[in-house]
Amino acid sequence: MLKEKTVIVTGGAKGIGRAMALKFAENGANIVLNYRSSIPDDLISEIEDKGVKCVAYQADVSNFEQALSLVETAVSNFKTIDVLVNNAGITKDTLLMRMNENDFDSVLEVNLKSVFNMVKHTSKVMLKQKSGSIINMSSVVGVAGNIGQANYAASKAGIIGFTKTAARELASRGITCNAIAPGFIQTAMTDVLSDKVKESVLDGIPLKRFGKPEEVAELAVFLAKNKYITGQVINIDGGMVM
Ligand code: NAD
Repeated sequence: MLKEKTVIVTGGAKGIGRAMALKFAENGANIVLNYRSSIPDDLISEIEDKGVKCVAYQADVSNFEQALSLVETAVSNFKTIDVLVNNAGITKDTLLMRMNENDFDSVLEVNLKSVFNMVKHTSKVMLKQKSGSIINMSSVVGVAGNIGQANYAASKAGIIGFTKTAARELASRGITCNAIAPGFIQTAMTDVLSDKVKESVLDGIPLKRFGKPEEVAELAVFLAKNKYITGQVINIDGGMVM
């Protein structure tokens, strides 16, 4: 069902984005792999070894014009855009008392403004096609809040409101828009946390383990294939928030 479809994955060089690119490729989709600064040497060939095409494109998706160039690159290479995965994200964790204006603005720009930029440009293509699937990476932190993450939680909660609005606005043209809200997934983003923090997070996970990027990627592929789920926030968190 995803064979020869086009999937854009933002922030696809590592972590969940990398796993998404590989999982969509396994399902037969051509990949437009966005990265901010660099990608591992073998990632494009690893994707193409699955029998699909992959175009890598460097862009800061928080920048409106660079996001447009990324979308134009996808169209010029593959003509359609069937799935957009807004995965790029950063953290700048600190307590509210210590959080400076730049810590707040930069996290909102990268995590939330990028979603506006990419959906704004991609939806024009999807509206003409009268089909498409948009998947935005939120977080359980956007649902439940978290100490030290006011900026990140605000960006991820913003993504939820944005997703529900886009879902309503685009539904009549056959375009779905959903958010994925992971709990604690083992990537570079969570590797930086201290063992003490990791232990206390683990205590709050009923399934008693951290998630894997591949598990999140499987959910994204499921949402891309399904045509009757829209406007939803799907937690994938071992039961952390329920
Ligand atoms: P990661 O740090 O491993 O990967 C994030 C990627 O985004 C990196 O490749 C980075 O270069 C890219 N990126 C950052 N800013 C960018 C920009 N302006 N333009 C283009 N690319 C940019 O993190 P991850 O854990 O793989 O997280 C992926 C997504 O999932 C993020 O949105 C994150 O907030 C979300 N998430 C992760 C977890 C987790 O536990 N790891 C939990 C909830 C949500």
